[in-house]
Amino acid sequence: MDSWVLYDNSCDFTIYNFPLGVAWYKEKYSVVSAIGDFVIDLDYLQQNGYLDPISLPKGIFSNQFINDFIGLGNETTKQVRERLIFLFDSKTAPKDFILRKDFYLIPISDVSLTLPLNIGDYTDFYSSREHATNVGIMFRDPANALLPNWLHLPVAYHGRSSSIQVSGHDIIRPNGQLKSDADPNPTYGQSKLVDFELEMAVVVSKNSTIGQQISTGDAGNYIYGMALFNDWSARDIQKWEYVPLGPFLSKNFASTLSPWIVSLEALKPFKVNGPESEKPLLPYLHYEGAQNYDIQLDVEIVSSTGANAVVSKSNHKYLYWNILQQLAHHTVNGCNIRVGDIYASGTISGPDSESFGSMLEISWQGTKPIKLSDGSERKFIQDGDTVIIRGFAQKNEIRVGFGEARATVISIK
Ligand code: MN
Repeated sequence: MDSWVLYDNSCDFTIYNFPLGVAWYKEKYSVVSAIGDFVIDLDYLQQNGYLDPISLPKGIFSNQFINDFIGLGNETTKQVRERLIFLFDSKTAPKDFILRKDFYLIPISDVSLTLPLNIGDYTDFYSSREHATNVGIMFRDPANALLPNWLHLPVAYHGRSSSIQVSGHDIIRPNGQLKSDADPNPTYGQSKLVDFELEMAVVVSKNSTIGQQISTGDAGNYIYGMALFNDWSARDIQKWEYVPLGPFLSKNFASTLSPWIVSLEALKPFKVNGPESEKPLLPYLHYEGAQNYDIQLDVEIVSSTGANAVVSKSNHKYLYWNILQQLAHHTVNGCNIRVGDIYASGTISGPDSESFGSMLEISWQGTKPIKLSDGSERKFIQDGDTVIIRGFAQKNEIRVGFGEARATVISIK
């Protein structure tokens, strides 16, 4: 397919994508999509009848969040995406629609992209075997890096939704309890080991009720799509606090979400098989077909002086537990989910050191610093450093990208 909107080969927002976001523009919030370097004013399209074949509540796009729209269900959101493909494909676009483009195409640089979701609950999984193994080796015991439950269930913790910020917001270096191995007692101070975690978040588009279990076969009906996610982590706080209940203050100070949510519909061409399960799985974790996604992910660090380095190249397909298994497990006890909830993958590390998804692993607890372009070294993230996560999937001419999730770490003294 070719769009009459021109963009180059490396564009994330192609005719195959149509992600959802929210823009602050002309003193109001609007649910928007994107193509090329433009956001698409969906409210204008609806008001002027261009979405008429689809039955939509009046004013659904005049909204600070995408929750109401995705809550209409995947069948409806799929129809809207197909309608957008029709309107923007040069073979099918109505002439009058193209002529009126200046009314609904707004340069992305002219708008402010805001947090697209009213996030209810947020869960962070731990579904990369390589990441869990690396952390197990460093934090616990190389001989028993994976704990016994890990190959039987998708391990997770409940995170904090209120501190999830959209790309572009600064991250304040946290304070907390720190304890070195040599010292029997902790001290209080600023975290010195602030780290990123390369993750993707899944966005829930359908409510379930308490007591209801969602099967892997049905889980896709509860998921709208995915976004880039950085689960900021303070490793020194984490190491001291995390036993026995898991991470708390080392994680809940901030997370960064990309402004664009890409639908599972758009990601269908990129489905691939995931790793084979090593242990026999309980029946509720069985699934059909290829359920991982071949999404290339990378992480770049840019210092305050502009020195930079791409420090990780990973892929969503490395996840041992897929997004359907995660949701089936999340609800197997009857826990309900709601539209706008998100659950993140956990750090996505691949098999080799270039694909590790956190500085903890890349620098191997600070023992192997990496170099930026000006020769300066990094073991963890310094004040003034900007961390940028990018992601896209590509198969022949079909390209679907996620934009970026970026944030700069600062200190408040
Ligand atoms: Mn995480």
